[in-house]
Amino acid sequence: MIFDLHCHSTVSDGLLSPAEVVRRAAANGVGVLALTDHDDIGGLSEARAAADDCGIRLVSGVEISIEWNGTPIHLVGLGFDDSAKAMVDGLEGIRLGRIERARRMSAELERIGIPGAFEGAMRFAGNPKLISRAHFARHMVEQGICGEVYKVFENYLVPGKPGYVDHRWATLTESMAWIHGAGGVAVIAHPARYRVSPQVLRSFLGAFRDAGGDAIEVVCGSHTPEQVAQFARTAIEFGFLASCGSDFHGPEESYVDLGKLPRLPENLTPVWEALV
Ligand code: AMP
Ligand code: MN
Ligand code: MN
Ligand code: MN
Repeated sequence: MIFDLHCHSTVSDGLLSPAEVVRRAAANGVGVLALTDHDDIGGLSEARAAADDCGIRLVSGVEISIEWNGTPIHLVGLGFDDSAKAMVDGLEGIRLGRIERARRMSAELERIGIPGAFEGAMRFAGNPKLISRAHFARHMVEQGICGEVYKVFENYLVPGKPGYVDHRWATLTESMAWIHGAGGVAVIAHPARYRVSPQVLRSFLGAFRDAGGDAIEVVCGSHTPEQVAQFARTAIEFGFLASCGSDFHGPEESYVDLGKLPRLPENLTPVWEALV
């Protein structure tokens, strides 16, 4: 059975609709899929209907943007009740913050001679409430400011660059309360991607465990084989379940396609054992 428990649709910064994501996953042989849009669960009902049509299982999912000790971190929630009020209201709060942040990013870009980025990015946002740096990047590529999306991030949209602004996301405590309050499982997304020292990462792993965190992505689209081995050791040391997800955003903007992932190492407990 192929599991893919991390991917995006046009409800956040993906390029395919929820139904298209599900159909592509099914065509790639995925048997259990979680759609995990950033800070929004509005795609789950469409995805669930498409999954029923294709005969695959859809697990409810979301990728929550949090800030821990000044570091932006992503937590994936899986298998929760998507009508739970605290989760629905909490995500709405993050989305409101995104629009205000996008206006500040645009003002910073304007100061260095790039006007109109807010409006430009909005044209790329399938869901205006989920305006993201990815939409700014696509707009700036279209404008010829950089040749490729990753270059826009490198030159403009990461800490220390002119289009990056600090932002208050959800906290670890509140995001865990939303996920667990809705009966779900909390997973650290792509642990290799945070721009922190090994010591700070370790202290986050401890804080996540102490907050009741359940799992970590051991296999993910952006991990090298060495990183898979590293986070397999982390899972064992901290007693985390192991998850596996592509982080697919679209055919041309992803590390790997839906379901095209290596298997989880044998000695780990897969997160799907907690998703009965
Ligand atoms: P945001 O949630 O608005 O901070 O935007 C983060 C999103 O931008 C991530 O979920 C990725 O989809 C995308 N992203 C982040 N860093 C990069 C990068 N270096 N290259 C391409 N896309 C990136
Ligand atoms: Mn994204
Ligand atoms: Mn992420
Ligand atoms: Mn993601």
